Amino acid sequence: MTLDLLVAGGGPIGLATAILARQAGMTVAVKEPRVESHDKACGEGLMPAAVEALRALGVHPDGIPFQGIRYSDGRASVSARFAHGPGLGVRRTHLHEVMRQRAAELGVQFVDGRVGTLVQSGSWIESDGVRSRYLVAADGLHSAVRAALGLGRVARGPRRYGLRQHFSVAPWTDLVEVHWLGAGELYVTPVAAGCVGVAVLGERPLDLDAAISAVPELAERLGGAPAASRILGAGPLRQRTSSRTSGRALLVGDAAGYVDALTGEGLRIGFAEAAAAVSAMVRDDPATYERDWRSITRSYRVLTSSLVWASSHSILRARIVPMAAAMPWAFGRIVDSLGA
Ligand SMILES: Cc1cc2nc3c(=O)[nH]c(=O)nc-3n(C[C@H](O)[C@H](O)[C@H](O)COP(=O)(O)OP(=O)(O)OC[C@H]3O[C@@H](n4cnc5c(N)ncnc54)[C@H](O)[C@@H]3O)c2cc1C
Repeated sequence: MTLDLLVAGGGPIGLATAILARQAGMTVAVKEPRVESHDKACGEGLMPAAVEALRALGVHPDGIPFQGIRYSDGRASVSARFAHGPGLGVRRTHLHEVMRQRAAELGVQFVDGRVGTLVQSGSWIESDGVRSRYLVAADGLHSAVRAALGLGRVARGPRRYGLRQHFSVAPWTDLVEVHWLGAGELYVTPVAAGCVGVAVLGERPLDLDAAISAVPELAERLGGAPAASRILGAGPLRQRTSSRTSGRALLVGDAAGYVDALTGEGLRIGFAEAAAAVSAMVRDDPATYERDWRSITRSYRVLTSSLVWASSHSILRARIVPMAAAMPWAFGRIVDSLGA
């Protein structure tokens, strides 16, 4: 039997694609190698539009709402609240459970294993004996499908990485806190009643404990709190692609290319890509996804690349928080654009 769609990767964007495709009446299977833990290095802050996108999928995770973002560098600080409803801090393990459950409820099939080699004709694409009308690659930052399709490109610019860990402590704020350090950014996101996630982004070597110690107000709040997860890492974050489609294969989520986690938009952008990819497949016009991908990701690519560039020059980096604090209206507009 030929499926309508095979999704490579059962992370949040692969599962969102599968759910949307089932909702559109397609027959869908998700192929995913991980059978046990679905934890991942992530700041776990779902921006308001990502929460909205999940609602449209019929996915309602438990989490801790956050109302906006606070930047601080130890001398200056500025915060802004979302105008269009709250974001949600959600543990990745829980997000995976509720998304997978929703996909299964809708009749998505699950296959264990990796998608590797691909063969395509004008009307189908085949991976390890599974034939489908379309294949969506949602296999993450280091996508093997992207490589197999020859769509990867060498990334320029600073090579940045991320680490994250959770601590058993009651959340103390309804904002995602971003602490700008001399050489990295520390993110604090409330994710459950007695749990906050702390992530650090920057160039190597990354040291989460040292980063926390560099922010006395954070070190004091976390002081003695037991770790609630092991440290997980990811990177290099920047991944370039030459195109997001190749015949009957479409790239979504981190597999489609990634700039950086600095603006916490990966899930918001990925869910929008999933919706655009499914619309293109429903129209049986995969090439239109490329145009939609450009428009969905444009502001993210411009803002995040500019921030990463500025943050890699020490003189500019030292000015980011003071400038945002001096122009709170401009910071507010940027925060709002992340949520929309
Ligand atoms: C430190 C850090 C902090 C972040 N903070 C935030 C944040 O606060 N908010 C936010 O929105 N985003 C954040 N992001 C980004 C976010 O984590 C990603 O954008 C998101 O996980 C992308 O989802 P995905 O489904 O595309 O990929 P993934 O979540 O990586 O899932 C890919 C899946 O594909 C599977 N797979 C791998 N190879 C194959 C294969 N060959 N065949 C089949 N399956 C395969 C993997 O096992 C995995 O399950 C952060 C990222 C980092 C690194």
